Amino acid sequence: MRKSTCEFRFYEELNDYLPSGQRKRSITREITGTPSVKDAIEALGVPHTEIDLILVDGRSVRFDCRLEGGERVAVYPEFERFDITPLHRLRPEPLREPRFVADVHLGTLARFLRLLGFDTRYGNDLSDEELAHLTARQRRILLTRDVGLLKRKVVVRGQWLRSRDPEQQLGELVEALDLRRAFRPFTRCMTCNGVLGVIARAEVSGLVPPRVYRRFRAFKQCRECARVYWRGTHYLRLQRLVKQVRSPIR
Ligand SMILES: [Zn+2]
Repeated sequence: MRKSTCEFRFYEELNDYLPSGQRKRSITREITGTPSVKDAIEALGVPHTEIDLILVDGRSVRFDCRLEGGERVAVYPEFERFDITPLHRLRPEPLREPRFVADVHLGTLARFLRLLGFDTRYGNDLSDEELAHLTARQRRILLTRDVGLLKRKVVVRGQWLRSRDPEQQLGELVEALDLRRAFRPFTRCMTCNGVLGVIARAEVSGLVPPRVYRRFRAFKQCRECARVYWRGTHYLRLQRLVKQVRSPIR
């Protein structure tokens, strides 16, 4: 196989995926044969789901563009600041109502997202394969801390979370995808992702502890698992969390 070199330059947060010595500067890499630009970029550690624009010698190209050797490749994440409409955007159109699928390590984040009203699939029983397919079939955004998972070809949209702390993960995600306007707090079941509906107080008398029944007037019930919700101490704690995430980044 013919060997040659190409020069790569990654912009903005895409540098987070590179070893510290390779960030924010040109990297020369050997290529074998004529790999697709997607494969060449992922070989450097950057998942394609994070990329919105690739310029090869100044010309915007798609993921399947073949490299011959000698090219200069510039790689950009999703832009908010620059208008790149005349160029090829590599991502599908932004999803109007973001829906998520969280990998097995992000159970708490999944519960927070449901609390904010986002349709979020999560289950210990979902394999990596199934997670990836849900992004295509149901147009869900895959949430993961596993860069390898985002590199799978079938993953259409994904978001890599840098933090290990669920509250910080939520903050990261709200910032990255500009989710604030899409909040619908307390409309979805934190346990099963079902939609909550109003239930008459008389109907919950046997379903909640007597002291809760005496103290609270308004109840909601999950249409899937029948779990009953009320504005107790748990609710107040969660409401504080919503406020915290709603306020602009400090
Ligand atoms: Zn439920």
